[in-house]
Amino acid sequence: MPRREDPVTRPDAVVIGAGVIGASCAVHLAHAGLRVTVIDRGAAPGAGSTARATGGFRAQYATAINIRLSLLSRDRLRAFRDETGVDPQFQPVGYLWLATTAAGLAELRAAHALQRREGLAEATLLAPGDIPALNRFAALDGVVGGAWCPSDGVMRPTEILRGYLETAERLGVAMHWGEPAIAIERDPGRDPGRAAGPITAVVTPRATYATAIVVNATGAWAADTARLAGLDLPVTPLRRQVAITEPTAALPATFPMTIWDDGFHLRVRDGRVLLLRPTPGDPGDPWSTAVDPAWLDDIAATAPVRVPALRGVALDRAAAWAGLYEMSPDHHALLGWAPGCPNLLLVNGSSGHGVMHAPALGLLAAEIATLGAARTLDVHALRPSRFAEGDPIVGSALL
Ligand SMILES: Cc1cc2nc3c(=O)[nH]c(=O)nc-3n(C[C@H](O)[C@H](O)[C@H](O)COP(=O)(O)OP(=O)(O)OC[C@H]3O[C@@H](n4cnc5c(N)ncnc54)[C@H](O)[C@@H]3O)c2cc1C
Repeated sequence: MPRREDPVTRPDAVVIGAGVIGASCAVHLAHAGLRVTVIDRGAAPGAGSTARATGGFRAQYATAINIRLSLLSRDRLRAFRDETGVDPQFQPVGYLWLATTAAGLAELRAAHALQRREGLAEATLLAPGDIPALNRFAALDGVVGGAWCPSDGVMRPTEILRGYLETAERLGVAMHWGEPAIAIERDPGRDPGRAAGPITAVVTPRATYATAIVVNATGAWAADTARLAGLDLPVTPLRRQVAITEPTAALPATFPMTIWDDGFHLRVRDGRVLLLRPTPGDPGDPWSTAVDPAWLDDIAATAPVRVPALRGVALDRAAAWAGLYEMSPDHHALLGWAPGCPNLLLVNGSSGHGVMHAPALGLLAAEIATLGAARTLDVHALRPSRFAEGDPIVGSALL
């Protein structure tokens, strides 16, 4: 049973990292009756990737577990305002996938069949002629088909984070900003030469928090955190850059999230257009969050070709930004106790889908911590040991 002494220095659970995933975990653990302390090295909320996310939400995925996580999260987002008092600004503007190759179309078809089997009844496949009714702005040169889901859309990551953090505080969660985890103490174990035992405390420059449960919710930095406990975690950073136009009325607020099969995608936010195209990251520095001017040139050249209404709409180059995805080897989250440490709960590696899946992951993590196993969903596929077992999740890299 978790200890129940001083809730500040002896909480039942310590959550390291107060991004959207740590905040969701804290709320769900507190709802389950645990005394929770959250530490984040940032001086204020939003120091990590959550504040840099663009806010896409979709259930159109190519693996059953990601579809299920999205459907569970969607339910939670629909109830979010009632539960937290904060509007997540979830707008189902739809998510439109455009295929330009036979292989891209085959991927969409296979994913669509799976989505229907998983209960995403409103997802449809599109012939090129169907597309203008959903998005009259997209140039259809070379487009051989598409996929559409009207209940996908956009949300406001920082509002979701705020909703969880305010709820956590109301539930009595102790929040400590500007406090990095600098050491994780483990029971040395009884037998010399044997692996270390459970974590006994999390150490910051200000305090030592003795605890029975530690949650690693440190996003792209999760492997560094695991290393404090002597563990290897296969989570690596990957830079994602975002271009943004000057304010424009060229596209309506209802413009659907639209994505081509080379990953180029765009959406409208606050009267500007956000444009992204994945790259392999900065080869010289995997932690770089600088925006590459040549990448911006490419976006500026591609945008008016894909969406002719953007001809003459300039990028606001100074406002472009980049952040870090938290990649796992199979691009799916790791959820469960860490192999080699019985009380370190991993909620890591969402691989760029962490905001949309945070409502589900926080709930499931709390179930694992307090009920012994996730009850709402079968999350066996996400077990952290799958890589060592040679059993990663197989699915499309884009979807
Ligand atoms: C450009 C971009 C666009 C994106 N778009 C989307 C999208 O459309 N939809 C979507 O769902 N997701 C999107 N994402 C991904 C999403 O941002 C992440 O999956 C999500 O924010 C992960 O949440 P997190 O709480 O795990 O990590 P973070 O928000 O990064 O939080 C981790 C926290 O851990 C703290 N921390 C790190 N190390 C320590 C330590 N040693 N001690 C204490 N604290 C520590 C950090 O300060 C940070 O606050 C996008 C990401 C980027 C970069």
